[in-house]
Amino acid sequence: MGWPRSGLPLPHETRSGNPGNIGFVGTGRQKAGESGLDEPGYFQQGDLVSVLTTQPLDRPLDYLAPEGGCFAGAFVEAPLGPRKVLGVVWGPGRGDFDRSKIRSLNRVLDVAPMREEMRSFLIRAADYTLTPLPAMLRLATRAPGLGDPPSMRKIYRLGGAEPDRMTEARARVLAVLRDYGGLAFTLRELAEMAGVTSSVVKGLVKQCAVREEDSPRDLPFPHLDPDLPGKPLTADQAQAADSLRAGLRSGGYGTTLLKGVTGAGKTEVYLEAVAEALRMGRQALVLLPEIALTAEFLTRVEARLGARPAEWHSGATMTERRRIWRMVGQGEAQLVVGARSALFLPFRDLGLIIVDEEHDTSYKQEDGVLYNARDMAVLRASICGARVVLASATPSLESWANAEAGKYLRLELSARFGAATLPEMRAIDMRAEALTPGIWISPTLRAAVADRLTRGEQSLLFINRRGYAPVTLCRACGQQIGCDHCDARMVEHRFLKRLMCHQCGETKPIPDTCPHCGVEGKLAPVGPGIERLAEEAAATFPEARLAVLSSDLFGSARALKERIEQIAAGEADIVIGTQLVAKGHNFPQLTLVGVIDADLGLQGSDLRAAERTFQLMRQVAGRAGRAEKPGQALLQTHQPEHPVIRAILGGEEEGFWRAEAAERQAAGVPPYGRMAGIVLSGPEAGPVFDLGNKLARNDAALRQIGAQVFGPAPAPIARIRGRHRVRLLVKAPKGAALQEAIARWIAPVRLKGDLRLSVDIDPQSFL
Ligand code: ADP
Ligand code: ZN
Repeated sequence: MGWPRSGLPLPHETRSGNPGNIGFVGTGRQKAGESGLDEPGYFQQGDLVSVLTTQPLDRPLDYLAPEGGCFAGAFVEAPLGPRKVLGVVWGPGRGDFDRSKIRSLNRVLDVAPMREEMRSFLIRAADYTLTPLPAMLRLATRAPGLGDPPSMRKIYRLGGAEPDRMTEARARVLAVLRDYGGLAFTLRELAEMAGVTSSVVKGLVKQCAVREEDSPRDLPFPHLDPDLPGKPLTADQAQAADSLRAGLRSGGYGTTLLKGVTGAGKTEVYLEAVAEALRMGRQALVLLPEIALTAEFLTRVEARLGARPAEWHSGATMTERRRIWRMVGQGEAQLVVGARSALFLPFRDLGLIIVDEEHDTSYKQEDGVLYNARDMAVLRASICGARVVLASATPSLESWANAEAGKYLRLELSARFGAATLPEMRAIDMRAEALTPGIWISPTLRAAVADRLTRGEQSLLFINRRGYAPVTLCRACGQQIGCDHCDARMVEHRFLKRLMCHQCGETKPIPDTCPHCGVEGKLAPVGPGIERLAEEAAATFPEARLAVLSSDLFGSARALKERIEQIAAGEADIVIGTQLVAKGHNFPQLTLVGVIDADLGLQGSDLRAAERTFQLMRQVAGRAGRAEKPGQALLQTHQPEHPVIRAILGGEEEGFWRAEAAERQAAGVPPYGRMAGIVLSGPEAGPVFDLGNKLARNDAALRQIGAQVFGPAPAPIARIRGRHRVRLLVKAPKGAALQEAIARWIAPVRLKGDLRLSVDIDPQSFL
């Protein structure tokens, strides 16, 4: 693709850095006036440099170094046509462009330059995912206004003078400032804490009893103290924590799989590793599935380290993102807790990455740049000499196999902490239950829930389906209502009073007459979704307080988190949830989990169907009995003898993974072989298939590495948003250089018109 594989080395940076000296720390031209002129990677004003921009161009562009010169790695503002774009000085210019037309860079931005390690990471991640580098750079700069000078705001601290007249309000302000020993506040904070109006504070400023100062808005994060006492650990936990600490002290890269049932104390253990990284003066990153980023988790971090970490997630404001991005780069955020994309923050000295719930499918980004944050975490750590901890009760088969092969260390916490025990798990054989049509809670499950209600304990009814009913069927003609733009059924959402396509999000009102045969009043919902289950539960248990947890019932992630906290506090008797509830929440009063349809995941043709079902059922069951009271999990199934259901019930986890591994090994599929998905799409089916056929015929590049191509075939969802989709699947032996071969294979493709091609390395879903 013509991208240089490495730039010149960056100047050496000092590890100490002076926190607080924001203007100075690490701008791209910091040393120019001192010793910089002879440093490797320094370009004097007017030198030809090559700049990677965030624009979708196929190569870095040549520019002239700006006034004051710049280092390789400097973030710069570059003129491009009439616009100004963000870029990074990537190395010396290529010089293959008419020199008289080359423009000068506008300026070096006042942020820490991109480190050599980050550049390698972006290049290798781009190579791995077959993503153009500008798209990787966009991922790494997802904070607005990086180039703006730090904005200022007023802060207030104790002044020297006494006010001439002391009022009660004034005294309160001064008391607050004294209580906090020299700390500064914003006007609003101070007025609020003292319970006075802001004019009281302003009055004190006039008298010099309070000092008003300008301070950069992007404040450093509060200092975290790794030496605060943690919880006393059990012998098991202490051993695991020791091992993680020893790994960190060894200094180099290494990955550890930390396996333990839900409630075993994995979080307590890895927080000790975080503390050790901070003690060593290095930074740490905790990745969580977006929804697991709860106040409960942050409170635990605060309890261990004395202050809140930086939080990077989709709900963070733009100002907050910018603050985190800058502070991380300056080494002034010691710990970041975040979702997937936090991995692309410009850490100054990243020593530890925790990937919690490492098996979670939300780590795979499914649009834009297709990457798996778990795998990229391992890549990044291997480049910057950091340790990785993959924590899970039900690891992915990939990580399990890497541990088996000795590539990852493996630590095991076998028991739940304290009095908590693993729930008893049983199947409810639905073939033997007396079921009324349209009723999904079996008599056995109903009795168990009723029992919890009388004891004042919580139950969870789990169904992994959003909406009211998955199918709307016409009882006159037998047709289902489908989406006009996709090959998908419309799902009834009674809460919204509409039908919705879960592929494209299109909604329409629920019609009275069948769109196929025109008969009125014959449309009927078929099968259960979470809303329908909630309706049934309300009718069956009229006195119970219900809480329905489905992502589309909440306006914001925050509202959802608040609801989860209320439930944890006991403000519901029956929780009805989709897979949202399977992740990391602690509901201490919950003692019963009822899985409405344990067979749901087993029907897919997906390579990972068994693994997913196993993980999800074990995770959901793990919600029960996390405190003193023992829990029970009941799985409604029509096939209790299915090997996956038996493995779930038996708790014979190693046995399940070994059997699953043997099957995949025999089939030569991941993790014992490699795969890539190619999705072609366009407005007309014909040209899309033609392109697919052409690719399938010209597969020499793939055959050279022993890979095979399957398809083209209509993708399982053959139409999304009116675009026809065709899929090719590439299978290769484990050690094959898959990406290189695919790059050579698709290089001759010229996408005409509105055709699109996307490559998904290590696909997780097959839609
Ligand atoms: P996991 O991450 O494995 O699901 P957690 O770390 O969340 O487990 O622990 C489960 C519960 O047990 C939490 O409430 C946690 O605070 C508590 N816990 C675990 N280990 C200890 C310990 N050594 N001392 C006190 N409480 C603990
Ligand atoms: Zn649709």
